[in-house]
Amino acid sequence: MNRKYRKTIIAANWKMHKTPTETKAFAERLKSAIPRAKRCSIVLCVPFVDIPAAVKLLKDSRIAVGAQNLHWDASGPYTGEISADMLADLDVKYVIIGHSERRALFGESDLMINQKVHAALGAGLRPILCVGEDRQQRDLGVTLEFITYQLKAALAGVSPEDMRRVVIAYEPIWAIGTGQTATPDQAGEVCSAIRSVLRKLYGARIARSTTIQYGGSMNEANAEALLNQEDVDGGLIGTASLDADQFLQIIYTANQDG
Ligand code: PEP
Repeated sequence: MNRKYRKTIIAANWKMHKTPTETKAFAERLKSAIPRAKRCSIVLCVPFVDIPAAVKLLKDSRIAVGAQNLHWDASGPYTGEISADMLADLDVKYVIIGHSERRALFGESDLMINQKVHAALGAGLRPILCVGEDRQQRDLGVTLEFITYQLKAALAGVSPEDMRRVVIAYEPIWAIGTGQTATPDQAGEVCSAIRSVLRKLYGARIARSTTIQYGGSMNEANAEALLNQEDVDGGLIGTASLDADQFLQIIYTANQDG
């Protein structure tokens, strides 16, 4: 990470875990134990139904609440879907877009992801845009080409001004929920390549100030080495974010002086 140029962001992705009651207990524990020094931003991306409880409990704290998905249209006949304005109205600040589980299990296309990015930005939300290769793409040596394609597709039509509010999460699919973390060098290499793509698309200033997280089995044991990489500006954390104490350990690591 490089705090001189960009924010370090530690974000939890709870996926389909925790009830509103469990959210309340977690938020209380987190609030009581987060470090005073504000060297990293903290975000909890919770299931839709947990948002009101999380927002209420974290209102006077420096922990922001995020969602894990949204629909690209403002309103309409989309049973079971949630719009960007609905999230913004609840005081949600971030939204995960293009997570590999949504791409693979719910058929999200690059076009849908691009439309979701625009919808989020239009409602004042900060997208956490996920990109990442699968095992086969890594083994074939096409990781950087694939991620470049994903970035270009997801960010098509996003203005430089709006890009300042986009967070990128590099999440190799083979590392998500597998306990098989990317090595710090692998994570650093791809995050640096992502920054180069952003440089070409948006210029040096915006590329230098964009937060690029790593996600994929990050935990309290490997967080320090990953975050020591110059271009890894935080983490998107699934499994290890479900336990408040484990998540706090990662926050403490990201918050260290120096
Ligand atoms: C994720 O799903 O965004 C994720 C990084 O999960 P895990 O930390 O469990 O690999």
